[in-house]
Amino acid sequence: MSQEIEKIVYCPVGHSSNDFSSYNCRNIIYSSGNCFLCTQEHFIHEFKTWSSGNAKIDKIIQVSQINAYKNLQWIPYDNFQNIEHIADGGYGSVYSAKLKGGMKQNWNFIKQDWEYCLIDHKFALKEIKVFRYNITEFLEMIKAGNSTEFIAMYYGISKNPSTQNYIFVMELFDYDLHKFLTETFWDLGWKLKIDILFSIASGLECLHEKNLEHCDLHGGNILLCDAEIVIDLDLCKLESDLILNSDKKNNKINGSIPYIPPEVLRGNEFTKRGDIYSFGGIMYEIVTFQRPFADQAHDTYLMIDICNGVRPKVPDFMLNWIPEWYLDLMYRCWNDDPSERPTADELVHLFFDVLDKLYENIVDDNVMQQLKIADENQENTSKSQKQELFELFSHSSKLHPQSCYISRSIHTLYGLHDFLEEIKSGKSSDPNLLLKSDESTALNANTY
Ligand SMILES: [Zn+2]
Repeated sequence: MSQEIEKIVYCPVGHSSNDFSSYNCRNIIYSSGNCFLCTQEHFIHEFKTWSSGNAKIDKIIQVSQINAYKNLQWIPYDNFQNIEHIADGGYGSVYSAKLKGGMKQNWNFIKQDWEYCLIDHKFALKEIKVFRYNITEFLEMIKAGNSTEFIAMYYGISKNPSTQNYIFVMELFDYDLHKFLTETFWDLGWKLKIDILFSIASGLECLHEKNLEHCDLHGGNILLCDAEIVIDLDLCKLESDLILNSDKKNNKINGSIPYIPPEVLRGNEFTKRGDIYSFGGIMYEIVTFQRPFADQAHDTYLMIDICNGVRPKVPDFMLNWIPEWYLDLMYRCWNDDPSERPTADELVHLFFDVLDKLYENIVDDNVMQQLKIADENQENTSKSQKQELFELFSHSSKLHPQSCYISRSIHTLYGLHDFLEEIKSGKSSDPNLLLKSDESTALNANTY
């Protein structure tokens, strides 16, 4: 007979658990001293105490701060401690640092003070020196990525007062894919290989569901730490822009040539299936532990070859370690016709199915049979053979001095159209050939 009525709770300011916050969510009040609306009000109260120097950026952070879950924050540069340089990338530099006192999390109405999290936590700071994207658009992408598993988590933005460069504050990872593979390749079984591919495909699927494309997927922005494997966002953009401008041709693009799909090298827009082509490059790296086209100059000649159907070669001696279905799938990702490439959704289902059977030790079909044989073949390689192969394929001895695995500005074949014959005959120098002065940057910066 009696209907149980949930008890309404009030905070000292008078907010009730029956109130609604933004996004139509019911307010949450904890007896430990947290009230969602109080936290929101205190963030709003502090809006006038900081500014990024750009009203649009301020607005994005403000909107994010009042949406309590995984919000982006403005972090004053003075709050960073123990700043250490890690690497240089195509757009700037990466540092590690701790945050003085940690990250502001909730207002506590009992203590009448902020509660902080991630105290003593090491963050990665990406200082942007070369501006290739619209920073406000990128912040919107980050917000979308933060609500998604398999995408690197960003905590906020800051500004270096001496350089006036913006800094993105994100999770710090131990490895990028290339570094991880270099250290673990010989011990890497199919379970982990498929697990890595499943995570990357899942990250892509999440982005594609939100109508976003990554546009710059390569081993350098696949980040790993303990059991976590995520994709870092870089040039990411919304597909809706592309549908409106489908006839648009680009003179210049950004990326690393071996991972850029042929249609984009020709000057066409990047689509979701373009990300799948880049994924093919990652599949290649995972089974060969070499980066695609590592022994060649990344120049206009290579772009023409790729557009004519040339793909990275799998060394013959490795072929009995790699199942046929894996190679077929990799070449499907690399198909010249984007519509022939699998979707991210298809990849996720495929890798999930294989992973499930690997963990359950089920060998019930041809795919699993091929994997079992491949694993046995790799295990049966003798130690001395392995050492020999390791030396043969050591990245330092094989990497071409004019290869470049960081994202950089590239002239498309469309953009070079009038000069192609002159470049081919040597009358004009190739604007896509890495300059000598850029070499050290290209060789040193493989992380981020
Ligand atoms: Zn309250």
